[in-house]
Amino acid sequence: MDPKKTLLSWPVVRQLRSGDFLGRGPAVTSARTRELEPRTSTADKVVQSVCPYCAVGCGQRIFVKDDRVVQIEGDPDSPVSRGRLCPKGSASEQLVNNPGRQRKALYRRPGGADWEPIELSTAVEMIAQRFVESRRRTWQDHDEHGRPLRRTMGIASLGGATLDNEENYLIKKLFTAAGAIQIENQARI
Ligand code: SF4
Repeated sequence: MDPKKTLLSWPVVRQLRSGDFLGRGPAVTSARTRELEPRTSTADKVVQSVCPYCAVGCGQRIFVKDDRVVQIEGDPDSPVSRGRLCPKGSASEQLVNNPGRQRKALYRRPGGADWEPIELSTAVEMIAQRFVESRRRTWQDHDEHGRPLRRTMGIASLGGATLDNEENYLIKKLFTAAGAIQIENQARI
């Protein structure tokens, strides 16, 4: 018998002494586990948010310490998810703090081998110019029988599941107003 162990440390005795009759609480907690402190209890503040990964929109509680996100948990106040997060949502703290996270817009020139960082405003301007130019170049006003088409087949939209309902609504409005008819979402495909 381990000299450090006594009769009092027998599992059944521990259960009876601690009142943990099912053996799922303090009777089976190791010394190492007892020393651990959850990041949720050492946070400075908690901010409510919504999981960015998919259109379900589960509620999240963001735990912040020293102006840094340290943990993300499900929000029990959310009528959508009632405190639950799927494995992807539970891992979204890694999305925030991952050292590989891109914080700059990247551009690879035609024929270029490397990505170069550019300002976000420059990237948005470049996208807008290409959008307008493609629309102008591929615009179809009438078909061969003179029937009105008023559309472009040169622009398409394929949304991802991280888009929420509001974003999808605005994308559909924008592309339809521009004359695009090929508007899809990954969640529907
Ligand atoms: S990715 Fe998971 S946790 Fe996030 S909104 Fe979708 S179902 Fe909810």
